[in-house]
Amino acid sequence: MDLFAGFRDPAIARALLEKIRGETRGVRFMEVCGTHTVAIFQSGLHSLLPENIVHLTGPGCPVCVTHDAEVAAYLEAAAKDKVIIATFGDLMKVPGPGGASLKSAQADGARVKVVYSPSDALALARDNPDDTVVFIGVGFETTAPGMAATVKMARAEGLSNFKVLSFHKLVPPALEALLSDPGMEIEAFILPGHVSAVIGAGAYRPLAEKFKVPAVVAGFEPLDILQGLIILIEMLREGRHGVVNQYTRVVTEDGNAKARALVAEVFETSDALWRGIGTIPGSGLTFAKEYADFDALAALGIELKETPPIKGCMCGDVLKGKLAPNKCPLFKKACTPARPVGPCMVSSEGSCAAYFKYNLES
Ligand code: SF4
Repeated sequence: MDLFAGFRDPAIARALLEKIRGETRGVRFMEVCGTHTVAIFQSGLHSLLPENIVHLTGPGCPVCVTHDAEVAAYLEAAAKDKVIIATFGDLMKVPGPGGASLKSAQADGARVKVVYSPSDALALARDNPDDTVVFIGVGFETTAPGMAATVKMARAEGLSNFKVLSFHKLVPPALEALLSDPGMEIEAFILPGHVSAVIGAGAYRPLAEKFKVPAVVAGFEPLDILQGLIILIEMLREGRHGVVNQYTRVVTEDGNAKARALVAEVFETSDALWRGIGTIPGSGLTFAKEYADFDALAALGIELKETPPIKGCMCGDVLKGKLAPNKCPLFKKACTPARPVGPCMVSSEGSCAAYFKYNLES
């Protein structure tokens, strides 16, 4: 039984689409979640929406926003003696400065293991007591609680050979950075469902107020997205701003207090580097003092260094919604999923990869 069939009902989808097509007020909206990026392309909505509904993909793909300096740092860790890198598979092909990647490092002899969860990395640390296991922690507020719980488990088990490169990123400060950019032409946001399940719809209200922007927390099924768009169009037409929670079956006003408490115990907020955007104040998570011994950067003596950007790659502009992927001169030419030049073509949640997969020309 498909529990989500009701959220994909073709007749209701057609009716919602007709309603959107009948609106004279369009919207230039951005979604900031890799799952929304994939859902909008996969369901065909990107192509079905009328011309006055402009879909921009934002910095919601965790692999894509991982900065070159962070890629260089984990490659430096991989090159060290007695270090095993544990990573999610989608980082394997991300090219770093000079074109190296975890995949090429592995081919050159580095010990790199693909894992499916932080607890798999913990098992690696248990099984290899004479090595240091370094987990590459990328992701947003959604993945940070699992990471924090794993660190607490490592502490409870006394696994001192388990370390983490904490490259986690926080969504609201990134939205603030985007909205503060005077060149930005975003009228409204579809906010990420998973992140919002943790931080709550209320987390965005100060931003919506400060920048007078309409935003909707939406689910990932076609009807969720269409309903979210109708809400945004109505808000714009009526000159309203604020945050509407469409995804009430999952997201509450305050989010998941237990998950947030775990994160607050293990991490503290810090400035973080985002690809294409640069340093965003308060948008990252470093270890709190009591858990500083899990910090892989400190344990391995690695610093985040200034790195030259990947030549020709315009991921930065794509992530800010300033450039459609197919407008990058390398798209489908030098850059394809088989031979990606930048991370937006590597990750299945990257907008360049989505444009390629669904053969989009606009
Ligand atoms: Fe970068 Fe490739 Fe996307 Fe161009 S098409 S922005 S080179 S990832």
